[in-house]
Amino acid sequence: MSIVANEPVPRPGILDIAAYVPGKEHAPGVARVFKLSSNETPLGASPKAIEAFKQAAGNLELYPDGQALALREAIASVHGLNVANIMCGNGSDELLGLLCHVYLGSGDEAIITQHGFLVYKIQIMGAGAKAIEVPEKDCTVDVDAILAAVTDKTKMVFIANPGNPTGTYVPVADIRRLHAGLPKGVILVLDAAYAEYVRKNDYEAGLELVSANKNVVMCRTFSKVYGLAALRIGWMYGPANILDALNRVRGPFNMNAPAIAAGAAAIRDGAFIEKAIEHNTLWLDKLTHAFEAIGLKVTPSVTNFVLIHFPDVDGKRAPDADAFLTSRGYILRAVKGYGLPNALRMTVGSEEANRGVIETLGEFMGRSA
Ligand SMILES: *Cc1c(COP(=O)(O)O)cnc(C)c1O
Repeated sequence: MSIVANEPVPRPGILDIAAYVPGKEHAPGVARVFKLSSNETPLGASPKAIEAFKQAAGNLELYPDGQALALREAIASVHGLNVANIMCGNGSDELLGLLCHVYLGSGDEAIITQHGFLVYKIQIMGAGAKAIEVPEKDCTVDVDAILAAVTDKTKMVFIANPGNPTGTYVPVADIRRLHAGLPKGVILVLDAAYAEYVRKNDYEAGLELVSANKNVVMCRTFSKVYGLAALRIGWMYGPANILDALNRVRGPFNMNAPAIAAGAAAIRDGAFIEKAIEHNTLWLDKLTHAFEAIGLKVTPSVTNFVLIHFPDVDGKRAPDADAFLTSRGYILRAVKGYGLPNALRMTVGSEEANRGVIETLGEFMGRSA
């Protein structure tokens, strides 16, 4: 006999999900705040993207183009891709969710890594499947650990490459080896949210692997180097079989018109993006050296953020540093939820913000920077 509930009951597993907690925004009582907790660019969006956004304000009564063609064409032309293999989403978060809802169900497993992006786990569990977490090595994804965790229930593997919050990357040869070891029915999701920042010859975001296979997708975002986090724009490059399945359940107007217009203008403004990358490359190096000089350990990063590890000493741990920095208006990201209780993640900020954090952490450590 079925039990009659006295209120609606979600599917099994939904209430086991720990909701995503975004980076802090406020430092109570501090006049000037530098938000370095969500990997947003300090340089803002391209003026051309802002102009396109304003132009779009003149037609808000009209439904957007459900195919987001102007944006997909801009992405295709900049990256040399086929428009038909590009799908846009309301942030790459939406695309990650669609993948899970289309390919996972109860009884299925999806593999994530020890310090992997929390959205994967949330979406896997949201689809009723089980997230299998495998260890990383020195805050770096371990391809062999992933391969060892594959079972006949595995349907998907999620990797952020580069990783968040670690900032490390997996060379393309290892990504190819991982793919070669996966059964053909398992989807490999390469989340390349920080690809634009990487300056390494042995890194690839995954375009070639997607082109040559039916079970690989690559996700990208306009929330980081393009400075459009507020507009929620992500895109996926994938094979026709996967895009066709996702298109059947995608919201028909999932991309709003101002986002389509601003995104297309942003990706075509290569000169602006180059400047943003140049600023990042310079400060990534300076921040890393400065923190090491005051006795902190920094995981080598190829992204627009650094993972800073604190001493395991009373008064000097990550929560102490977090409180000290916040009291001075510098908001970094606590990463306890990512299995890193004694580290903080700092987004590369403006020169002023970066210098401020260096000085403040120097004071915290009792060493002048
Ligand atoms: C920031 C980030 C994204 C981007 O998400 P959006 O929904 O496009 O803003 C995706 N994956 C990782 C690992 C990220 O850090």
